Amino acid sequence: MNTEILKIEPKSIDIAAELLRKDEIVAIPTETVYGLAGNGLSPNAVKKIFEAKGRPNDNPLILHISSVDWLYRYAEEVPRLALKLAERFWPGPLTMIMPKKSIVPKETSGGLDTVAFRMPNSPWTLKLIEACDFPLAAPSANLSGLPSPTRAGYVYNDMKGKIPLIIDGGQCSYGLESTVITFIEKGVKILRPGGVTAEMLSEFCETEIDKAVIEGLKDTDKALSPGMKYKHYSPKAEVFMVECDDDEVFAAFVNENSDENTIVLAKNSDNIKAKTLPYGRSAKQEAETLFASLRKADETGAKKIYVQAPSKEGIGLAVYNRLIRAAAFKVIKL
Ligand code: AMP
Ligand code: MG
Repeated sequence: MNTEILKIEPKSIDIAAELLRKDEIVAIPTETVYGLAGNGLSPNAVKKIFEAKGRPNDNPLILHISSVDWLYRYAEEVPRLALKLAERFWPGPLTMIMPKKSIVPKETSGGLDTVAFRMPNSPWTLKLIEACDFPLAAPSANLSGLPSPTRAGYVYNDMKGKIPLIIDGGQCSYGLESTVITFIEKGVKILRPGGVTAEMLSEFCETEIDKAVIEGLKDTDKALSPGMKYKHYSPKAEVFMVECDDDEVFAAFVNENSDENTIVLAKNSDNIKAKTLPYGRSAKQEAETLFASLRKADETGAKKIYVQAPSKEGIGLAVYNRLIRAAAFKVIKL
């Protein structure tokens, strides 16, 4: 199959909608990462998404909607708190899980009786969903296990020959996937941290953070978010997360342990002799650059990547969550 890349504009939105109506899958930009979209109500389209990504079929997909009213089309029960949170955070990087109606196929929900919803903050993508008049199931547009794509070129690397169309909307502004929450008796529980932070949610309701967010799951633990149990976000090179707040101590450690095949992502690269790639001094910059830099490290043929650990505050928690999985829980504490 030939994979075309089209700039985002009205004509390409029409072409994408036409393909989606025919159960084809199309890569689309969102403010978080690029999504691999298909008709979320069609088992046939959803099957194509799982195949193109090589994603385990018990890992559920998020339904992307263009209007809050659509919750009533596809959710059996819409919590009042969900409406409050939607009013404040949608369109935006917040995904909410609710009991599903039977119109949502089991293929989409990974066999669960619940389904996840998000309204992305990308005007063209919202127009596309509106034009389709069905929700788009859209996981990140990478091969399962690799870092999520934050540019159309990275989607092409993973999906060429497998999908007919990539809509190029430039670089994603957040760079990390959405926050995923589920509703509990007192408020909400964060299953995957993202751009809508625990601090922001706790202004509205009691907010718990699932322990799998930073610890990972033991074999005996039940995964509340099935996606969290898989190896994730990993480049080919071996990643080590280095916990160290002192930039000089961090520089001394990596200078001692690097060779020509090492890449370093540091908050401050001044005294670092090894090759470095963009990272950032703030959690927001780290979120924007992490996945692109992990992919670039692979392009340089790196064997080992040292990344200075982010803080666990605010959006830092999302960076920490992705990084510790990219590092397969290999943490060096200095
Ligand atoms: P991705 O599509 O790659 O952004 O991943 C979607 C994430 O949302 C995965 O970690 C899923 O486990 C999680 N998710 C989606 N639907 C549900 C659901 N019904 N219950 C729990 N987690 C879900
Ligand atoms: Mg993903």
